[in-house]
Amino acid sequence: MWEDVTYDSFLFHAAMDYLKRKQPRLMFVGFGETDEWAHAGRYDLYLTAAHHMDDFVRRLWELAQSLPQYRGKTTFIITADHGRGSGLDDWKKHGEKIAHSEGDWIAVIGPDTPPVGERTQTEPRTQSQIAATIAALLSEDYHAAFPASGAPIADVLAGGETRSGRGRSK
Ligand SMILES: [Zn+2]
Repeated sequence: MWEDVTYDSFLFHAAMDYLKRKQPRLMFVGFGETDEWAHAGRYDLYLTAAHHMDDFVRRLWELAQSLPQYRGKTTFIITADHGRGSGLDDWKKHGEKIAHSEGDWIAVIGPDTPPVGERTQTEPRTQSQIAATIAALLSEDYHAAFPASGAPIADVLAGGETRSGRGRSK
């Protein structure tokens, strides 16, 4: 359908298979259908793709929790690579010239993240912090290695500290 995006269902099954067979320490899955359907102005398929993605994330989580090497020690960071505009036309678009598309969200679930529910940010968070947050959860310090990056998002890490800061094993 698209030049550089596959259907999320194909990607989901590949991700499930990869998790089972290769058991990576870190895995990135980039679902792209919602963005494509929004650009095409297909709100019906946009919603369907969003519902499917919710289910794919649930099934990936349940798979991880069914595998001893991941159970109770896996974190999912779920986010979008950009926001979208709003209103009758701008919901299809995003970018510097589209109002409100600078807004974004992040969901984090895992043993190091306090289950505080939905919150509105109290201080600005940016995508520049995500790499360092992932690294902190893996006992690595990305921000020290790449100072131009953002610092880890402390309040998704237990006690606001990195694992390495608490001296925990990897
Ligand atoms: Zn897009």
